Amino acid sequence: MKKPTLLLDVDGVLADFFTPAAQIIFDVAGMKLTPDTIPSWDFFELVPKKFHEECWLRMGHPGWCSALQPYEGAQEVIRRLSSKCHIYYVTAPLNAPLWSSERTSWLQYHFEATRDQILIGSAKHLVRGHFFVDDRHSNVSEWVKASKAWGNDVTGFLWAHPYNDSYEEEPNIIRTARWDVIEQAVEEWG
Ligand SMILES: [Mg+2]
Repeated sequence: MKKPTLLLDVDGVLADFFTPAAQIIFDVAGMKLTPDTIPSWDFFELVPKKFHEECWLRMGHPGWCSALQPYEGAQEVIRRLSSKCHIYYVTAPLNAPLWSSERTSWLQYHFEATRDQILIGSAKHLVRGHFFVDDRHSNVSEWVKASKAWGNDVTGFLWAHPYNDSYEEEPNIIRTARWDVIEQAVEEWG
């Protein structure tokens, strides 16, 4: 049986990047950010520039990426989806020496990923698949546009957070934070 290919972003979809990042911002800049109060995906826009370098240094510190927590329920869903589709993890790295290797180990440990399933890079629109899940609107939009230009019938899922609720409907994009919606799309594919 032919199976579809599902491309998954990691931070903000499988891994809770926000909580420990917000803690660093609080420690460094004294600002208390909550998921409901950030207006956009790039919450660093709220942080004065003079604090950025220290924040990024701390997030790039060895062990920080490894310590990120998977969202509750994500592991079970991915385990289930693994038998129904080809999964690839498409994840943009932080500019830090150990980030990519820690991200690889993290996916192997928490999601039983193989190295072949892990694609580390920012040009997510270059990756082909049938479904794509990401919490950054521009990533989903660019991926859908590129896929359609190749003539592929695709669906992009914008993983819903308060910071992307200004999203206005676009063709081939569904905004949701429900795995059952994605599972159903995968099951109905083909
Ligand atoms: Mg993300």
